[in-house]
Amino acid sequence: MTAILSNLQATREAIERAAKAAHRNVTEVRLLAVSKTFPAEAVRAAYLAGQTAFGENYLQEALDKMAALRDLPLEWHFIGPIQSNKTRPIAENFAWVHGVDRLKIAERLSEQRPPHLPPLNICLQVNVSGEESKSGVAEDAVEQLAQAVVRLPRLKLRGLMSIPAPATDETAQRLPFARMRAIFANLNALGMGLDTLSMGMSHDYPAAIQEGATIVRVGTAIFGARNYGEPT
Ligand SMILES: *Cc1c(COP(=O)(O)O)cnc(C)c1O
Repeated sequence: MTAILSNLQATREAIERAAKAAHRNVTEVRLLAVSKTFPAEAVRAAYLAGQTAFGENYLQEALDKMAALRDLPLEWHFIGPIQSNKTRPIAENFAWVHGVDRLKIAERLSEQRPPHLPPLNICLQVNVSGEESKSGVAEDAVEQLAQAVVRLPRLKLRGLMSIPAPATDETAQRLPFARMRAIFANLNALGMGLDTLSMGMSHDYPAAIQEGATIVRVGTAIFGARNYGEPT
């Protein structure tokens, strides 16, 4: 667990360096610690090292962790693929959902968001790396989806999210992130008032910060390699 503290410190320092290199204020970039497959104790260790926002992909695993960590003021983000029969517990238990790519899912989340909670923060997942990737709305359909989601009463459309195909050098990594930045700017030019670009993972978050990421989702670099099978 001590590795979590030093990994978090190293990640924060790398975020700071990337922000500085991009002439951005480091306070514009939030770190989302992706704790999927790691136990509640790992999340607790990260919290004790100052981390409060956590990303989870698998609903039941996330609900179990939330129950074990009820005593902590944590902010939970659902970042996995969303099945339509799982929207209610997501709407009831998370503060953010990053992977919305269909209006039907957004409508269910809005209908099912409990009235005593603030609106659910939403990022639309955009497919910027072409056909090999299965989830995310196509670039040419983002605007239409955003126009519909922004009207849903119990959601707050915050911005866009992407998981580009992995690339090794920073120049190649930046290309899809630059596309995301352009799509984001287009939506804001229509007056959508979006403030969030959720992009960048352990292997490419410095490149994402160069292109304007405001949330980087980092798992492995904080918690270590995920060494058991991930459910689907
Ligand atoms: C697992 C996951 C991450 C974190 O990936 P790492 O490479 O471990 O940093 C980020 N975003 C999403 C959507 C994920 O599923």
